[in-house]
Amino acid sequence: MIQKHLSNLLEYAKLHLGLRDVDTMYEANRLAEKLQLDSYDAVLPDTELIKALDCPDSIVAPILDYALKKGLVEEGEEEFFTSEILDMLSPLPSKTIVDFNEKYANSPDGAFDALYDLGVKNDYVKLSAIRKNKEWVAEATKNKLQITINLSKPEKSNKMVAKMRTVSAGYPKCMLCRENVGYVGQGRTRRNMRTVPIKLAGEDWFWQFSPYAYFYQHGIAINCEHTPMALTDKTFDKLLDFVDYAPQYFIGSNACLPIVGGSILAHEHFQGGKAVFPMFFAPEKKSLKTPVQGVSACVLDWYNNVILLKGKDKSAVSEMGKRIFAEWEKYDDESVGIFSRTDAQHNALAPIVEKTKDGYKLYIQLRNNRCDDKHPDGIFHAHKQYHNIKSEAIGLIEAMGRFILPGRLDYQLKEVEKFLTGENTEIAENMTIHTDMIGELLEKHGNKLSAEKAHKVVTERVEWVCERILENTAVFKNDEQGMKAFDRFLSVCGIIE
Ligand SMILES: [Zn+2]
Repeated sequence: MIQKHLSNLLEYAKLHLGLRDVDTMYEANRLAEKLQLDSYDAVLPDTELIKALDCPDSIVAPILDYALKKGLVEEGEEEFFTSEILDMLSPLPSKTIVDFNEKYANSPDGAFDALYDLGVKNDYVKLSAIRKNKEWVAEATKNKLQITINLSKPEKSNKMVAKMRTVSAGYPKCMLCRENVGYVGQGRTRRNMRTVPIKLAGEDWFWQFSPYAYFYQHGIAINCEHTPMALTDKTFDKLLDFVDYAPQYFIGSNACLPIVGGSILAHEHFQGGKAVFPMFFAPEKKSLKTPVQGVSACVLDWYNNVILLKGKDKSAVSEMGKRIFAEWEKYDDESVGIFSRTDAQHNALAPIVEKTKDGYKLYIQLRNNRCDDKHPDGIFHAHKQYHNIKSEAIGLIEAMGRFILPGRLDYQLKEVEKFLTGENTEIAENMTIHTDMIGELLEKHGNKLSAEKAHKVVTERVEWVCERILENTAVFKNDEQGMKAFDRFLSVCGIIE
């Protein structure tokens, strides 16, 4: 049977990874060696079936099974084994770049599509794991938020964790460094990762897809240097260069401070991809003029504070972005609790760029990460009463209306529902985080709901919390005082009606 599985794997590599006929015997023998077989005996493969596959799981699984039974792979090391054999059958990084550039000449979109497809087909992008995520559009919310319960990242076993600790740290310097290509260690394998180089504002960067994507073709543009996240004037030029190179993608930089930004601040990078987020559909609240010729502005009807700049001239759009940045960095308004700096910098912004047939769109999200006694986790961060749903930093993806909620909720929300149907009456120790919410829901709905109705109530509660969290992140609140303060800031930037 193993010979049949190997024949299928080689056929898969031919159909999906670009393995050439002339290399097939060579790869067959390498695989035979890896599996400690005396020979490779080609068997007629299931070509039609293999053609239809969108990921390698079903092809690799029986081979992995064989290797486990034979003791060639230890439990907990499955991914190291599968990434190794799929890497053997994938084009080398150099060939990947040549192929990419060839396709890019005809279609940038097509070239990135093919790179993504290679990542899925060689199991670098974990499509089947990503499919485990629960995902829905919150129809009842004002701006139709997208909500995902993240179930894709596998739990690391104790054995794995022990391994991660025994490998010496320091190489690569971080998870984003370009030295990760082909790297195995610290509990991760990047053998089968492939990247392509890009130039942003004269700097050398590269693009890679995210193995556990949060949205379609979720990728990261990464500086070739291990240099910390820093929002500077140049950031705007880099983002605008990116959408010239990959106009089918949005690209954005997280604010470069804790609480309001991404989790990796040690290495400069942007997030991008093909997704369309609710913020992109938010209606204009009011149209405004800017002091830079050819650049218009508007404020979005959105939960937090977003200024959208539009223009055909890239340098003009960039110039206006830089002006807002320069003003916001030092902007204080005590009347609404905005202090740009106390013992550390607090004002920050997240710029996001899209390119459309009408020109460039630069979205600027105003953020602030100050904490005080009342809100020790952040004044403009998810408030404490919502931490049972989400307590982590609200980065740019969530601020654009796509929530990535922790996997624990998959179980916990089902347990919450059982209180509303009367099945649960005592709050278990691992559910105390939800005590207040359960109490409120019981008071409002009682405990005699049908299972279906209970599910609806709990789901809508989660959606409602996501909306409130976004409002928490607004530095200028959506009330008269807040909106007046927002106008004052806009006018400081020269943006007026
Ligand atoms: Zn790094």
